[in-house]
Amino acid sequence: MPNTPIYFLLVDDMEENLLSLSALLGREGLELLQARSGTEALELLLKYDVALALMDVQMPGMDGFELAELMRGNERSGSIPIIFLTAGNMDRQRRFRGYEAGAVDFINKPIEPDILRVKTDVFFQLKRQQNLLAHQRDMVRETAEENARLLAESRQYAAALKEADQRKDEFLATLAHELRNPLAPIRNGLQVLRLTSSEEKAEEVRGMMDRQLTHLVRLIDDLLDVSRISRDKIELRKSRIALQDAIQTAIEVSLPLIEKENHRLTLDIEEQNLWVDADLTRLSQIISNLLNNAAKYTPNGGTINFKVKREGADVLLSITDNGIGIEKETLPKIFDLFSQVDHKSAHAQGGLGIGLFLVQRLVSLHGGTIAADSDGLGLGSTFTIRLPLTIAAQPDMPSSEKDAAAVIDGNKKLTVLVVDDNVPSAQTIGWMLELIGHEPALAHTGKEALEKAKSLLPDIILLDIGLPDITGYDVCGELRRDPQFKNTLMIAQTGWGQDRDRELAKQAGFDHHLVKPIKLDELAALLGNAEPQAA
Ligand code: ADP
Repeated sequence: MPNTPIYFLLVDDMEENLLSLSALLGREGLELLQARSGTEALELLLKYDVALALMDVQMPGMDGFELAELMRGNERSGSIPIIFLTAGNMDRQRRFRGYEAGAVDFINKPIEPDILRVKTDVFFQLKRQQNLLAHQRDMVRETAEENARLLAESRQYAAALKEADQRKDEFLATLAHELRNPLAPIRNGLQVLRLTSSEEKAEEVRGMMDRQLTHLVRLIDDLLDVSRISRDKIELRKSRIALQDAIQTAIEVSLPLIEKENHRLTLDIEEQNLWVDADLTRLSQIISNLLNNAAKYTPNGGTINFKVKREGADVLLSITDNGIGIEKETLPKIFDLFSQVDHKSAHAQGGLGIGLFLVQRLVSLHGGTIAADSDGLGLGSTFTIRLPLTIAAQPDMPSSEKDAAAVIDGNKKLTVLVVDDNVPSAQTIGWMLELIGHEPALAHTGKEALEKAKSLLPDIILLDIGLPDITGYDVCGELRRDPQFKNTLMIAQTGWGQDRDRELAKQAGFDHHLVKPIKLDELAALLGNAEPQAA
């Protein structure tokens, strides 16, 4: 720096000489270091970057020449200019020795102030120039380094831009493809509707068109979400919600796809009563997105495990599939926008490569994180979300929350026998029951229902009426006649909600009657009132 002080070292064994030298030399920007002996001088030389040493020759102990020779031998002090202060005239030989030891000049005592100033000023100015040069050299080096850094950075930006541009082009191609995909069957469907006279066919076509339209709407919703998130325009409607509610909604949304692909979904929920500060719709969207991906990227008949576990003040939700897996090098980029891994692969599924991007942003808006893991291609994948939990349910919480907590209270684990000849339907109810902390068992015929009821002695039996062998009414009647089932809660589930059905169900011995499709909150409300049989 240009303002760095410049140091002169004054070496003299006489205090008054040091004082008068200091008085003569003193100026702004100059620091005078005083040493009363050679040893003191060497110590100061170690600490300071000295521009000039002014040294008395005659000193007890180490004299000026000896000190100068020691300085010459040292790398740090070897090039410091030395002016000797000599008393009287020096003979030629001594003067020669002085030059040999490294002297650049001699000043005779008594000292002429002007001569002293002129001779020392040269070294002051020289050092100042050196400092300035060093400073400029540092600046030039720093600028060069900064330029190199900026260049490397701009190269990186350019590469990133190029990659983003390429991904955008790919995305547009995928988007066109994805939007056209559902349009073709919709247009074909319209043709069929125009031509067909079969109501059955028309119903089938309407169902197909409805599914395709739902798919289109979802694509467009996702696109809008991406645009909102990119402009920071997404707003979460956060409140304290039971995590189970979000999971339940997500499973309901993803079930059709999971069932279509014949996957087995297992739930592993360690603790029921978990609360998070979240936007219910968005949190369900996050979870169902991951479930849909697990279903999409797992070959038919796979297994999807959904695990929920508390870890300290957080909850971890992991969705693991045994599907196509993800290559290690792809993992770090999996949450990037438009990151579809190999569109041409046989496993590429309808999608725009924006789902995981949205999921990650939404998770982070909830104060959480998400990680993807896979051992490699063909080895399945795990996506784990970490979310902060709110503090455990407070006693003064509003009554509606209290009710919700009661329904999902893990203390009342009930065994529920679900009887339905429609296997996916029975399975779905089973999952829902697990979700709210109960233990389901499934049966698909009347005979199987009777056998399982007798072996398991469930707390609750949820009976379909239209079974292939014996009607649900008969199953219920037979069980009721057995004293073991006198107090078992029996719930009829039928496709009809007419009064007559209610009446028949009551006569057969049912406690309640629910209309299909069964709503989880209705079922949960009934179970909330039932006590385990063993109790
Ligand atoms: P999309 O499913 O629309 O392609 P996503 O953003 O949801 O977009 O996923 C990005 C990519 O990540 C997918 O194209 C797929 O290659 C990969 N991926 C996502 N989930 C899984 C999974 N469970 N197993 C294997 N690959 C997955």
